[in-house]
Amino acid sequence: MEVEVLKQELLNNSSNYNEEDINEILKAYELANDLHSSQKRQSGEPYIIHPLSVAIILSEMKADKDTICAGLLHDTLEDTEITKEELIHEFNPNVANLVDGVTKISKLNFSSKQDRNYANTRKIISSITEDVRIVIIKLADRLHNMRTLEYKSEFKQKENSLETMEVFVPLAYYIGAYRIKSELEDLSLQYLKPDEYKRTEELHRKVEEDSKHCLTEMLINIQELLDNEQIPNQIKTRTKNIYGLYKKLSGGHKPEDIHDLLSLKIMVDDITNCYRTLGIVHSQYNPINSKFKDYIYNPKTNMYRSLHTTVFGEDDRLVQTQIRTFDMDDVASFGLTSYWNQNMDNPREKMQEDLKEKYQFFKSLAEINTTFGDNQEFIMQVKQELFTDKIYVYTTKGDIIELPKGSTPIDFAYRIHTDIGNSMIGAIVNDDKVSIYDELHNKDRVRIITSEFSMGPGRDWIENTKTTHARRKIKEFNKK
Ligand code: MN
Repeated sequence: MEVEVLKQELLNNSSNYNEEDINEILKAYELANDLHSSQKRQSGEPYIIHPLSVAIILSEMKADKDTICAGLLHDTLEDTEITKEELIHEFNPNVANLVDGVTKISKLNFSSKQDRNYANTRKIISSITEDVRIVIIKLADRLHNMRTLEYKSEFKQKENSLETMEVFVPLAYYIGAYRIKSELEDLSLQYLKPDEYKRTEELHRKVEEDSKHCLTEMLINIQELLDNEQIPNQIKTRTKNIYGLYKKLSGGHKPEDIHDLLSLKIMVDDITNCYRTLGIVHSQYNPINSKFKDYIYNPKTNMYRSLHTTVFGEDDRLVQTQIRTFDMDDVASFGLTSYWNQNMDNPREKMQEDLKEKYQFFKSLAEINTTFGDNQEFIMQVKQELFTDKIYVYTTKGDIIELPKGSTPIDFAYRIHTDIGNSMIGAIVNDDKVSIYDELHNKDRVRIITSEFSMGPGRDWIENTKTTHARRKIKEFNKK
């Protein structure tokens, strides 16, 4: 029976937990199974399959025990008789708060559907600032719902897919969970544009077939060289996801020109061996200089770390080689969650701290959340500032700063420090002096010129900014 198979899968994934934790996970399963026993999914299957599948996704993400329990119980407060107090009593306040947090998102009551949607979306996004695990459970919930969307009406399919693209895909990106992000994208495209999806899927299959020889040859060759050098390694091949391919094609690219259509993912034991591996790859295959990226020493703003180099592989096909350690690969697949460790004493504190320190979007999000009282305005701002195309620019120290597309040196200056913004009189981008109102572009190197004689920001600066942070600081200065 399918339920038993899934239960076994969850237990297999949980083999790293101690016995006490496994017993608690089993207890959460039994309780959820009991509470949902009279419910069926639209597919006709027993309801428990849904929370069980959500828990499996969470266990693949190496979630902590409380999160897995909350995943199993995530629909019980809403759909069954149990209360939050009983959950505290049966488990602990953490589990109860997580289930409550997930439930509150869908329970808000508003006069119009539109208002309720705004409030819901805000609740999902802003719960990151309370406990990011609420969002991660919602992501797992959404992923399983998207996987089983075929049983819903066409209207619901389109509505859910659109919301997934607008809200959940950017959230998955921000916490660095690439594996979940690309699955959500493919599933959404399938319902939003069925014809285009079919066509791209066929091409995708053909690309995979055609490139098999090239990728296998390279894999065997590189593996042998790494083994000879006694570098512990694992190599995987990958093709860009269907949505990614679809976007490139609609942008006018030809499949053979897409530099990361085909990838080899090489995982090794430590950082030194990443660079040794890079040398080995370049000595065998001719690299394209402009496509080399060192994200190990310049991590992406969502903490993704890897070396990227696109080379001419076998059959002269372009192959993007990604070289990273096994640990970095965990972060690349599941993002923030891979910092989770079931032996960690206080996963919530640790994760919220990590978010605050290392993830640039977190500060912007917290600021937008406090600045905008109105739900609709909040969502507009998040979409314009965070869930939009981004640019990545460099400070003179080589740090990467993430800004919404259309940002100016003013946004940049305030992101670095309020004093720098307040005393700026000009900017140098790459090697040229530019107007502080000029739009910045990807990979620009920016230096802000300040002066102690600066008059401070004029009110007209506000129209030439994209970020809530800069606008707020300019307003604050002018109030004084
Ligand atoms: Mn659910």
